[in-house]
Amino acid sequence: MLFAMTDKSKVRRIAVIGGGVSGLAAAYTLARARQAGAPVEELLIDASPWLGGVVRTETVDGFVIEAGPDSFLAEKPQAAAMARELGLGKDLMGSNDHARRTYILHRGRLLPLPDGLMLLVPTRLWPMVTTRLLPLSTKLATARELFFSPPEVDQGDESVASFVQRHFGEAMLENIADPLLSGVYGGDSAALSVRSVLPRFWEMERQHGSLTRATLKAMRQRRVASQSNGPGANSSGTGSTPQPKPALFMTLKGGLQQITQGLAARVEKNRVYVRRRVLAVEFAPGGAGGAADSCSRRFQISCEGGRAFDADAVVLALPANLAGGLVSSIDHRLSELLEGIPYSSSMTVSLGFDERARAKLPAGFGFLVPRKEHRRMLACTFVHAKFDHRAPEGKAMLRCFLGGARDPGVLALHDDEVEAIVRRELKEILNFTAKPLFCRVHRWSASMAQYPVGHGARVSAIDERLQDLPGLYLAGNAYSGIGISDCIRTGKAAAEKALEFVGQGVQEAVSTVSSKR
Ligand SMILES: Cc1cc2nc3c(=O)[nH]c(=O)nc-3n(C[C@H](O)[C@H](O)[C@H](O)COP(=O)(O)OP(=O)(O)OC[C@H]3O[C@@H](n4cnc5c(N)ncnc54)[C@H](O)[C@@H]3O)c2cc1C
Repeated sequence: MLFAMTDKSKVRRIAVIGGGVSGLAAAYTLARARQAGAPVEELLIDASPWLGGVVRTETVDGFVIEAGPDSFLAEKPQAAAMARELGLGKDLMGSNDHARRTYILHRGRLLPLPDGLMLLVPTRLWPMVTTRLLPLSTKLATARELFFSPPEVDQGDESVASFVQRHFGEAMLENIADPLLSGVYGGDSAALSVRSVLPRFWEMERQHGSLTRATLKAMRQRRVASQSNGPGANSSGTGSTPQPKPALFMTLKGGLQQITQGLAARVEKNRVYVRRRVLAVEFAPGGAGGAADSCSRRFQISCEGGRAFDADAVVLALPANLAGGLVSSIDHRLSELLEGIPYSSSMTVSLGFDERARAKLPAGFGFLVPRKEHRRMLACTFVHAKFDHRAPEGKAMLRCFLGGARDPGVLALHDDEVEAIVRRELKEILNFTAKPLFCRVHRWSASMAQYPVGHGARVSAIDERLQDLPGLYLAGNAYSGIGISDCIRTGKAAAEKALEFVGQGVQEAVSTVSSKR
C-alpha cells in the first residue's frame, strides 16, 4: 500500500458519466489508482440498466451474437492490450485471414475486391488489371496516380469523396470507397472528412503526392526492416522463429463483452450507478473557481429522479451530442461544439442457420453494398467464416448491417419487417433461401459518431475550451477515432488527466500503477 492512512476528507472523487467501453476504461483506470493507494474514489454513472454501451454479446443456442461491434482492428493495440491486462489474453483470437475475401455487389452480382488493395490503394498490378469491379478509365487513372500526383487541394480539409475522386476517379469512390466507409461508419463519403477519417492517406498525400507510391514505399520499408532483423524475424522483430502474419481483426472467444465485463468487474460495485440518466453537470455552489484542494467539490451532477452527486473531476464518456447538453450551464460554447458532432444510427440483424446453409454461401468474410445498388443492406458478414467460436460446429451465422446516414428510417420498422427485408435481399443477392433458426435485430440509435469536413478544427476548438475548464474531461468515439481501441485510449487518457488534476499524490500512485504494467 502506498498511502498508509488516507484522511477521508482528502479523498478526491472522480465521476465518469457513461458506462460504455470508453467510460469503463476510464473507471477502471481510476479503480487501479485507488487500489494502488491513491486517495481517490471513482464513480460510474450510466443511464441504461447495463454497462458496456453498444458492446453487447448474446448467446443463443451456442451462437455467439455480437449486437454491436464484432471485432477490433489488430493494428490498433489498445483493445488487445487491455484484454491481456484483464487476464483475457487466452481468449483473444484473430480473424481467419486465410479465408479473407470480401465481395462488392456490382450490378446485382458479387465480385471480389481485388487482392492487394490497401483500403483504397492498389498495391498489386494483376488483380487490378483483371478486376471487373472497376472500368478501364479507373484502371488508367490508378496507373496515372502512381506517376503523376493529382493537384493538391489548397484547404484545411476535404471530403473523402472528393479526395478519392481526385486520386482514382468516380468508380473507385462508388464501387469501393463508399461501401467500405458505409460498412464502418454508416456514413456518407461526401460528408466525411478525409483528414479525420483517413488521416494516414491525408498525410501520405502531403508527403508523397501519390498514394500508390507512398503505400508501395511503406511496404518496401517494412520488408527491408523485417529482412534486416534476420531470417524468420516476425513483424515486431523480436523472435527468431517464423511467426504467422498477424490477423487483421481480433475479438474474444466469448465475444467483446468479455472486455467490458472484465473492466466493470474491476470497478467496485457500490461505486457504480446504473439506470441513472444524468441531466446536467454544473459547477457546485462555491466550487466553480475552487481548486481541487478546496473543501467543497467542484462539480455537481444532477440525475433524473432528483438524485445528485458531487465530484472533484468529471469524465464525460457519453456520445458528444449528449455530453454537450449536460454542460450548457458550465460553458455554452463548449456545449454547442459538442452538440454539433453528428451521429448516425445503425442496425445489426443476426441470423443463425443449420448445417445445410454453409455450402450455399460463397467462400469469404461477406459483402458490401454500394449505394447505387439501391438495397437496404449496407453489408453482410459471414460470421462463422470470419471467426471461429461464433457458430456451433458446421452451422452458419450471417450478420447484416443496415441504416447509417443512407437509411436511418429502417430503425423504425418492426423486427418482422426487418427480417423480411433481409431475407429478401439475401435471396436476391446470394440466391440464399435457407430458413433461419433465429433472427436477432439490434438497433443503435445515434451511436456512431461522424467526422464531417472540418471535424479536426472542431475538436481543436473543444480542446481549447477545455483548457479553461480544468477538472472536466472527454472520452469516447467522437473525437479521434471510433473504434474500440480508440475508445479505450481516450477513456484511459481522460482518467489519467483527471487524476493529475486532483492531486500530485494521486499522480505518484498512477505512475506506480503504470510502471507495474
Ligand atoms: C453497430 C455498431 C457496430 C460497430 N462495430 C465496430 C467494430 O466492429 N469494431 C470497432 O472497433 N468499433 C465498432 N463500433 C464502434 C464502437 O463500438 C463504439 O465507438 C464504442 O463502443 C463506443 O463506446 P462509448 O463508450 O464511447 O459509447 P457508448 O457505447 O455509446 O456508451 C455510452 C454510454 O453512455 C450512456 N449514457 C448516454 N446518455 C447518458 C446520460 N445522460 N447519463 C448517463 N449515461 C448516459 C449510455 O447508456 C451508454 O452506456 C461499432 C458501433 C456500432 C454502433
